[in-house]
Amino acid sequence: MPMTDAARIEIVTRGSAVIQNKSGAFATTVRASDKAKGCTRSLTTDWFYRRLDNGERVLRSWMIYSRAHECLYCFCCRLFAKDCEQGASSFINTGFRTWWKLSPKIGDHESSPEHLPCFEKWKDLEIRLNQNATLDALLQQKVKAEISRWTKF
Ligand SMILES: [Zn+2]
Repeated sequence: MPMTDAARIEIVTRGSAVIQNKSGAFATTVRASDKAKGCTRSLTTDWFYRRLDNGERVLRSWMIYSRAHECLYCFCCRLFAKDCEQGASSFINTGFRTWWKLSPKIGDHESSPEHLPCFEKWKDLEIRLNQNATLDALLQQKVKAEISRWTKF
């Protein structure tokens, strides 16, 4: 479904944190291959954090767990990717739930050429919306000051 600018702005204003569902509970998947038949895997909260080289843990704000679909989506790619055609990452279209491939798929996605521009567009829009909110607030203050100046006699 094509995303309208208004919907995109509304979703970015609300942010990803409210729909991340990073504390679980997460669905499990049973691997049906011969090698690891019956092997159960699940997503864990740890996957929502990226470990930097200096040991620091950073929240992967782009990662969204859908309780309804029991899979992971990418917040910014869902909002900004030009097309959700075949071949696009499962983080964008069908949802990712192949839990035994969390490594390397999560790392692959967040450094992929399809993800990085979407992440940048998301952060740019967020900054612009925050600036507008600040400008609106400043303008309102100015108008209030102006009104009180003209109503004082
Ligand atoms: Zn992405």
